[in-house]
Amino acid sequence: MNDHSPRTTGSRVPDDAPDDAPEEALYDALAAAPDDRIVYDLSGIERRYRRLRHELPDVAVRFALKACPVDEVIEHLARLGAGADAASPRELAQARRAGVPADLTHYGNTVKSDQDIADAHRLGIRTFATDNSEDLAAIAAHAPGARVYCRLATSGAGALWGLSHKFGCPPGDAVRLLTAAGDLGLVPAGLSVHVGSQQMTADAWSEALDLLATTLTELLRRGIAPDHINLGGGLPALGCLDRYGNPLDPPLDKIFAVLREGVGRLRRIHGGPLAFVMEPGRHLVADSGAVRARVVRLARRRAPDGRVRHWLYLSCGKFNGLYESDALQYRLRFPTHPGGERIPAVVAGPTCDSDDAWDHDDRALVAVPRALASGDPVWVLSSGAYATSYLTQGFNGFAPLPHSCVAGTGRTAADHR
Ligand SMILES: *Cc1c(COP(=O)(O)O)cnc(C)c1O
Repeated sequence: MNDHSPRTTGSRVPDDAPDDAPEEALYDALAAAPDDRIVYDLSGIERRYRRLRHELPDVAVRFALKACPVDEVIEHLARLGAGADAASPRELAQARRAGVPADLTHYGNTVKSDQDIADAHRLGIRTFATDNSEDLAAIAAHAPGARVYCRLATSGAGALWGLSHKFGCPPGDAVRLLTAAGDLGLVPAGLSVHVGSQQMTADAWSEALDLLATTLTELLRRGIAPDHINLGGGLPALGCLDRYGNPLDPPLDKIFAVLREGVGRLRRIHGGPLAFVMEPGRHLVADSGAVRARVVRLARRRAPDGRVRHWLYLSCGKFNGLYESDALQYRLRFPTHPGGERIPAVVAGPTCDSDDAWDHDDRALVAVPRALASGDPVWVLSSGAYATSYLTQGFNGFAPLPHSCVAGTGRTAADHR
């Protein structure tokens, strides 16, 4: 049974929050919220961004918009100098409206129609991802002269969500595609990888960097010198729990060390100017967003096998803000029940879909206050990544969650330990 309650009750800010935790302003906003919503702490996002730039000073950041397609967040990151990784003409247009310059935005999706490519070209986008010759020919036809980079396939091992099957190609194909790009009047501009989302191992990065080194070496041997490497996304959230409620504790410092070493190694192989970009999504926003939900019901139910268990039905589930409970748990806070008896429960969302539940395994039960009543507020922490993008239009009539943003006061959770 996982006790998601804070270990101390002095401050409303949980003492198990990650080091660069959200500011008190986030908890103030959750406490003041009149209805269900997701709240983003822009200062927390900014701190993550600045830390990333500090750890990897040679790597430019292009925020993967799908992790949080919220105007205020994109605008805030744009003001800090971040670019954008966009996956459709609408995302490209959103980045533009939010103030991200076209030359800091790329079309990072290998899946696009002729019309998508033409629309992107019209929006001033000049850099496109690819991993197949049909897409490459379409880029040459509808975005003549564009810069293309080829995505290398990775195994996705070590990630909570591997992105292996749908994207990328082996090194030999990448070399052929970038060679063909030149013949088609395109600029063979770079290589990319994505090690899988919420990647939990530094080894996955080592392997990806090895793959990049091998491919880069072969490209150079053929007289093709790319100008940049795109290290993709995959950097982890720090405050989420695994599907059984254990802290994930990703080796972030080790990951950064591997990346710094890799950047140096690839630059030495290249010998000329080689730029690096990265497309973090989750890492920048996950821990600075939280959902304010409500208790629908804490109920006791007998299963067909005779077993009796408690179920905590929340007003938010897979279809209105917490889609990723397929692979992880979120830390829960019950602000109206800081103490009192706890009982183990399965946590589930409000809809008539049986997938709308956290893991049912006995190891995944969550300790919840026995005294919870319908309507009591529940805070779902570190739920800022992919929350808004996975909102449905109103599955079973449960409306998409509204959002709001707060800017902190400088008082962080860490100050209150
Ligand atoms: C989703 C995605 C990202 C962001 O991934 P995270 O794991 O959230 O960092 C980056 N690049 C591409 C191409 C993506 O599709």
